[in-house]
Amino acid sequence: MTDYRNILLAVDFSSASHTVVARALDIARRNNTALTVLHVVEYLPPMDMAYEPVTSIAWVDEDALLQRAKSSLEKLCREHNISTAKQVVVIGMAKTEICQYARQQQCDLVILGSHGRHGIQLLLGSTANGVLHDMPCDVLAVKLK
Ligand code: AMP
Repeated sequence: MTDYRNILLAVDFSSASHTVVARALDIARRNNTALTVLHVVEYLPPMDMAYEPVTSIAWVDEDALLQRAKSSLEKLCREHNISTAKQVVVIGMAKTEICQYARQQQCDLVILGSHGRHGIQLLLGSTANGVLHDMPCDVLAVKLK
């Protein structure tokens, strides 16, 4: 079996995240490698194409959103005793940012849940499906009920 050297775990803070984190931790330990844990804040600034673009500052404080997400990620990592894991929070679309980060960091395995906040009605959720089809490296979609 391949030894993974650079594993990316994507979490959306849905209730099933703990199952996905536990599975990723197990795989990281077996491969004797560290994990990077990534959360994408899915906030897109509103725009009305008929007029001037509306600046995001008028609507939402992006720094505050990022800060809240960082706190949630720290808490999740603390709960799983992986506070030393590299923790990354970015703003954008989940699928796009997960793939971009994994490519930039040359990750060799991306781990996510088969479903999350978007995809419970689908066989494979939208993010999981998108990452699976876009990434050249291995992708593990942890099966969630
Ligand atoms: P989905 O396909 O969007 O229902 O979500 C499937 C999985 O993708 C989730 O279980 C997470 O592992 C990952 N995911 C979804 N949204 C995000 C996000 N905003 N940030 C990081 N990972 C995410």
